[in-house]
Amino acid sequence: MSTVHANYIDGQWNESESGDTFEVRNPANTDEVVGQYQSSTRADVETAIDAAVAAQDEWADTPGPSRGQILKETGNRLAARKDEATETLVREEGKTRSEAAGEVQRAIDIFAYYAEKARDLGGTSKAPSAPGKDLYTKPEPLGTVGLITPWNYPIAIPAWKLAPALATGNTLIIKPASEAPNVTRIVFECLDEARLPDGVANFVTGSGSEVGAPLASNDDIDAVSFTGSTEVGTTVAQTAADDLKRVQCEMGGKNPTVVMPSADIDNAVDIVGVGAFGTTGQSCTACSRAIVHEDVADEFVDAITDYAESLEVGPGLEDPDMGPHVSRSELESTLEYVDVAREDGATVRTGGGEPDGDGYDGFFVEPTVVTDVESEMRIAQEEVFGPVLAVITVGDFEEALAVANDVEYGLSASIVTQDLTEANQFVEDVEAGVAKVNEKTTGLELHVPFGGYKNSSTNTYREQGDAGLDFFTSTKTVYMN
Ligand code: NAP
Repeated sequence: MSTVHANYIDGQWNESESGDTFEVRNPANTDEVVGQYQSSTRADVETAIDAAVAAQDEWADTPGPSRGQILKETGNRLAARKDEATETLVREEGKTRSEAAGEVQRAIDIFAYYAEKARDLGGTSKAPSAPGKDLYTKPEPLGTVGLITPWNYPIAIPAWKLAPALATGNTLIIKPASEAPNVTRIVFECLDEARLPDGVANFVTGSGSEVGAPLASNDDIDAVSFTGSTEVGTTVAQTAADDLKRVQCEMGGKNPTVVMPSADIDNAVDIVGVGAFGTTGQSCTACSRAIVHEDVADEFVDAITDYAESLEVGPGLEDPDMGPHVSRSELESTLEYVDVAREDGATVRTGGGEPDGDGYDGFFVEPTVVTDVESEMRIAQEEVFGPVLAVITVGDFEEALAVANDVEYGLSASIVTQDLTEANQFVEDVEAGVAKVNEKTTGLELHVPFGGYKNSSTNTYREQGDAGLDFFTSTKTVYMN
């Protein structure tokens, strides 16, 4: 029997009034249940919102350094539980041990970063146009905010929303993804141990329709920060717009890496390979299109095929190169995309199926390289969210740039080149929130803004760094005579 976990509402661990729970299973070993969670109802969400609203004034009045101290203590508690959180993340989501350890460390670092930021929340002093006056701005919390998070970074993403929301004096309700709520719950245990006042942060599990949707529609919620698919994010943004809530949706990607003739091919293969197959391709910034100049296309395709075939696929606890998909539906979706690519005339150069042999009692898929891809094919247009790389061959830099921009998404994009003019032109013209040169599309420092263009984002606010604070604050301008 696995443990049944409660919601965290008003500083207490409570069961849902529904009396129902749902199971989370290990995607590398589907017999293993790694937790049972509350199937909460709208009534549970309302109870959590009431608690957060009631706690808001006092939390907003708590001095920034004191709020920061609680965040610092939360990060310390999480650091003390790093091994446990890492193993939990591997078991619930399927990441390799190294990837999971990196993600947990990221969450720890985020708490430390925003703990410091709580001492200095900005605000500016401006010169008044007459003597004897003061003119300045001060940031103020928005109030009570709803956070909706995806399964693919189930500790880092909650951390990068929670920490700035709390640092700036907001109270909140988080709805974690149903595939992977365990590590978010560990963060709440740490917040509780760090003596966060009751009601300030609330954790409610359950379905998107019962728990997520009310966070976007409830009148007492002042802002919604969502990360997930473009399909769900669009609904969340539309609902939030009904009563003019502030909303931030970070969504899907179809990220390209352009490979030019001046590139060192081994380096290009590392950059594309890690971007495409790291985290089993389940990153919003995963490289899913290699756009390769025809002069180096054959050499690149041979080398990336060797790279994909060399990757060891297995259960994350054994720390192979690549773990499983998070769920059967994600696995089936990836395999379906490979079939569609074949039907559209592309060639599956390697992979494209489930690996054979023992030890694959889960949602494993082979690292896959698809060639003979045209930009208008579905495999080149839609987010696959699996370890599938589509290779598109182009004749020159202008065509490469046009293909890179020829999708509805615009999250992360990179180019591998030794030509400075190409590099600068790419940075200038690529339609993406993150542009990289001689770097993989995945990964970014936590102290810089992160977000997308086009349908990857509502593109109003960025996350992380100072930008992460902006979303959660209003600016009041003060004129003191
Ligand atoms: P998802 O299906 O859109 O779910 C995201 C969250 O929304 C989950 O907590 C989900 O709950 C909830 N939800 C579902 N329906 C809802 C509704 N009607 N109203 C409110 N909330 C609802 O996305 P996912 O499969 O978890 O994550 C993968 C996607 O996230 C990919 O598209 C990826 O690119 C994107 N992503 C983007 C970024 C970024 O920063 N741009 C980062 C990471 C991931 P349930 O789990 O209960 O369904």
